[in-house]
Amino acid sequence: MKSNLLKGAISLLILLTLSTIIFAQSSKFKVLALYSTTVESDHVDFANDAIKFYTKMAAEKGFVFDVTTDWEKLNDENLKNYQVVIWLNEFPHNEAERRAFEKFMTNGGAWLGFHVSGYNDKYTKWPWFVDFMGGAVFYNNNWPPLPAKLIVDDNTHPATKNLPKNYVAPINEWYGWKPNPRNNKDIKVLVTLDPANYPLGKKNIITEGDIPVVWTNTKYKMLYMNMGHGDKIFDSETQNKMFEDAILWAGTK
Ligand code: ZN
Repeated sequence: MKSNLLKGAISLLILLTLSTIIFAQSSKFKVLALYSTTVESDHVDFANDAIKFYTKMAAEKGFVFDVTTDWEKLNDENLKNYQVVIWLNEFPHNEAERRAFEKFMTNGGAWLGFHVSGYNDKYTKWPWFVDFMGGAVFYNNNWPPLPAKLIVDDNTHPATKNLPKNYVAPINEWYGWKPNPRNNKDIKVLVTLDPANYPLGKKNIITEGDIPVVWTNTKYKMLYMNMGHGDKIFDSETQNKMFEDAILWAGTK
């Protein structure tokens, strides 16, 4: 009787220890989200909403979500503390920050980039980042910001597994890219702007083209999402699932 009780207690202890280890592995990742308050106000609005969204989620799911407006925090020493880096509405400011980020990603770190954080043009002069984005260089945009029909190309990726095949995304400024990242063999496009939206815009009109909206470069643990303009982005429960699944994917080994 006593020995059965002891065996039971030991089994319970082992079970508890194992589940603690599994829980710790799956959910105790650390995220550093960087943003700026001195950029376009619609991009600041998005960042503030994203911080609220992910702070709440972090408390529920048990991961760490740190935020900073200090891009100097992109340094080797500090990045050792994190598994995931998010750029909410900007990108590194100098060579040192760029090098630290490259190193972080090359050594297996994860990145989520929203909207303008993926922006680059002929003045950016950061070839590594253009390659990281699958060769995509900003080409055009619609204005004013508008909702848009999206096509979900891939429901097998952990970030998009809960999205329907089609949905209408809340108001955003949508970017077109040239070259098209879809033409890069390392890129997997997960979500695309539905051509049924064209012409999209009034002042700036997108009239044609294959426009990827969410993609990953399979050489890295990275996901770019073009959403991120204004204070309506988190209005869609459907789309919010992707934002949740994306950060959980990024945080999982
Ligand atoms: Zn924008």
